[in-house]
Amino acid sequence: MARAAVPGRLSWLVSTLATSRDETASARTLVLDVPGWPGHQAGQHVDVKLTAEDGYSAQRSYSIASAPDGSSLELTVQRIADGEVSPYLTEVLGPGDPLELRGPIGGWFVWPPGSAAPLLLVAGGSGIVPLMSMIRSHTVNKSKVPVRLIYSLRSPADALYAPELSERTVASPLEVTYLYTRTAPTGMPTGRINADIIDTAAWPPSDKPAVFICGPTGFVEAAAGLLVAAGHDPAAIKTERFGPTS
Ligand SMILES: Cc1cc2nc3c(=O)[nH]c(=O)nc-3n(C[C@H](O)[C@H](O)[C@H](O)COP(=O)(O)OP(=O)(O)OC[C@H]3O[C@@H](n4cnc5c(N)ncnc54)[C@H](O)[C@@H]3O)c2cc1C
Repeated sequence: MARAAVPGRLSWLVSTLATSRDETASARTLVLDVPGWPGHQAGQHVDVKLTAEDGYSAQRSYSIASAPDGSSLELTVQRIADGEVSPYLTEVLGPGDPLELRGPIGGWFVWPPGSAAPLLLVAGGSGIVPLMSMIRSHTVNKSKVPVRLIYSLRSPADALYAPELSERTVASPLEVTYLYTRTAPTGMPTGRINADIIDTAAWPPSDKPAVFICGPTGFVEAAAGLLVAAGHDPAAIKTERFGPTS
C-alpha cells in the first residue's frame, strides 16, 4: 500500500528533468515534470535532495521561476564553482534523469495576483528567480498593476532572462532598471544600489507599493534599509535571502 502523506508535512516527490536551457554561461534553467505536484504561488521555493550511492545526501533550496500555471516546474540554478549541489544540477543532470524535491515551501514571500498595489521588485544576482515567477504570474493573470524591477548584477553577461524581460517591457506594464556592480555597458556607470537609484527607479512611498527583495544577504539588507530610509512602510517590504553574506 502506498504510504499516505502526513497532512501539513511535505513529502519528497521524484521529478524528471524534461529539458533544460542555458540562461548565461553559468546559470541553467531546469524544466521538471513533477507527478503529483500540488501547484504553487509566485515566490515559493522547493528543496532539492541529491543522494549518493553510499547514502550521503545533500539538500538545497531553489526558488520556482515558472508562473503557477502548468504542470511543469522551472528552476534556475546559478553554478557556484566549488559548490556541492549546483554544479551537478547545471552540468550533470540530463533529460530523463530523476530529481528528488519537496514543496512548494514558503507562505510569506509570495505575490497574490489579485493584489491592487503597484509592485516593486528588487533583485540581486540570482535573487531574480522568484521575482521572475511573479512577473510571469502577473502576465498569466492579466494583472494591470504596474511593475518596476530593479536588478543588480555583476555584468550584462550575468543577466538572467534578459530577452524575456526586454519583451515583457513592451507587452506589459513593466519597467526594468539594471545596475551593474563590476562591468557595465559602454556609457553606463558601475555601482551598488543607493539612495539616488531608489529615488529614481522605485515607486514613491506615497504609491504604497508591495515590495519584494531577493538576493544575497548583504544586498537584501542594503536595499531594505534604503527603502525604509526613503519612507517606505517596513510592513510592505518582504525579503528573501540566498547564499552567504556578500
Ligand atoms: C529560499 C532559497 C532559495 C534559493 N533559490 C535559489 C535559486 O533560485 N537559484 C540559485 O542558484 N540558488 C538559490 N538558492 C541558493 C541555493 O540554495 C544554494 O545555496 C546554492 O545553489 C549553492 O549550493 P551549492 O551546494 O552549489 O554550494 P555549497 O556547497 O553550499 O557552497 C560552496 C561554496 O560557495 C559559497 N556559496 C554558497 N551559496 C552561494 C551563493 N549563492 N553565492 C555565492 N557563494 C555561495 C559557500 O559559502 C561555499 O564557500 C536559494 C537559497 C534559498 C535559501
